[in-house]
Amino acid sequence: MTTATTSPVDRLAAILREAAVLKSIDSLLDWDQETYMPKGGAELRAEQLQQLSGIVHEKTTDPIIGELLEAARAHASEAGDARLQADLREAQRDYDKATRLPKDLVEEMARCRALGMTAWRDARQNDDFDAFLPWLEKTVELNRRKAECYGVPSGGEHYDALMDDFEPGMTAARTEEIFAPLRAFTVDLLGRVTGSGVHVDRAAATMTMPIDKQREFSKRVCTAIGFDFGAGRLDDTSHPFCSGFGPGDTRITNRYREDAWLDGLSSATHEAGHAMYEQGLPKSAYFGRPLGEAVSLGIHESQSRMWENQVGRSRDFWEWGIGVAREVFGGALADVSPDAVYRAANIIEPSFIRVEADELTYNLHIMLRFDLERAMIRGDLSCKDLPGVWNERMKSDFGLTVDRASLGCLQDIHWSMGAMGYFPTYTFGNLYSAQLWEAMGEAIPDRARRVRSGDFAPILAWVREHVHAYGREFTAEELCQRATGSTMRPEPLMAYLEGKAKDVYGV
Ligand code: ZN
Repeated sequence: MTTATTSPVDRLAAILREAAVLKSIDSLLDWDQETYMPKGGAELRAEQLQQLSGIVHEKTTDPIIGELLEAARAHASEAGDARLQADLREAQRDYDKATRLPKDLVEEMARCRALGMTAWRDARQNDDFDAFLPWLEKTVELNRRKAECYGVPSGGEHYDALMDDFEPGMTAARTEEIFAPLRAFTVDLLGRVTGSGVHVDRAAATMTMPIDKQREFSKRVCTAIGFDFGAGRLDDTSHPFCSGFGPGDTRITNRYREDAWLDGLSSATHEAGHAMYEQGLPKSAYFGRPLGEAVSLGIHESQSRMWENQVGRSRDFWEWGIGVAREVFGGALADVSPDAVYRAANIIEPSFIRVEADELTYNLHIMLRFDLERAMIRGDLSCKDLPGVWNERMKSDFGLTVDRASLGCLQDIHWSMGAMGYFPTYTFGNLYSAQLWEAMGEAIPDRARRVRSGDFAPILAWVREHVHAYGREFTAEELCQRATGSTMRPEPLMAYLEGKAKDVYGV
């Protein structure tokens, strides 16, 4: 691969592919740790992951990448190849970011992450915020240092540099601009829903269903919506996730509770949505290169939310889904109507825990986290004051009184992992999914009828064409603009949520 006749583009592609293969081994070890690894394997696994991450870091910061990028860019502009230019632009971004972080900071972040996650698990278990406080303070400090290494954009703030890792190009100010109207809308609609006096029957959601049947049901639905089991697996875990290792191998995991079969289904369709994006990226041609990678976490989340919510929580879906559910679960659902399941799947109610929140209040949970982590990074909020401020906000936004930290600021794993600037991408996912769904609806006029008959192919084909095929050729907002005619905006999500509330609560 180092002969003079090999083009710089090919040499670069070969190195990036080697790095991607190493990263896929890392993901495989992670996946195994969360599914089948025996408890006794934990120490060896930590050592395996640590050694591998060192090798990956060396590979991705090798100065030869910088040299090849320069040569390849000359080649691309000579050839007038726009796609290749986009690929190189993004590869340069990755290389710059990787090389801007000094090794000692990377190691310290890794150490803080490993120890912080353990401390967080214990702290949450014991409802003991003080036990986690030193790790939170350390995380904020390391994130500030990371932002400084990346470079704080002029006129911007540290938080912008952190967000860029998850949603490239996004800023706190732009997030605020999008969240503000959505927040006002949500507070108003939630008030109307809770004030409506309508009680939606939860019974259909809480029927007891055997776990093995739920597993089968998840598999049936994931197959129907388009998850390729020839290039993927579905296994059990305690915290569902999706891992796209590379071409031909994308894994999803799920968890089940006997009295929550609808939750089991929605996390299955959620993860399958992530997985179908991974399976739809042009990885065979571009494995390891930006053109074969997901553009942002917001877009990734839009793909999961779309299948989970726009599809899986729709009345049309249950017209078809009830038949499959009756086949799998037998007589238990004989007298349950699709409408009853649809309503039970769309109950709107303030709650403490983000991951269990309904489609409407979910975004309030995210806005709370965005405001508080941004304030901590800015230094406007001292970490020790977090529980108090969190609880006040839960009271004012949700009308709920938090009486223990595990129901409040200790519920999420993200800060313990060192991830700050991540939370907003969940709401970006909701916004993008509603916006893409709306645009797709115009392109597929008989979509509702197709869904009612269990034909999901046109939906998958549309996102394959307008989202998946591009990899990182465009930024997330450019991709959205091309697919829907405008950059991210809150109106489609608001119209979608308004429609749901009207249908279920009559408000
Ligand atoms: Zn997700």
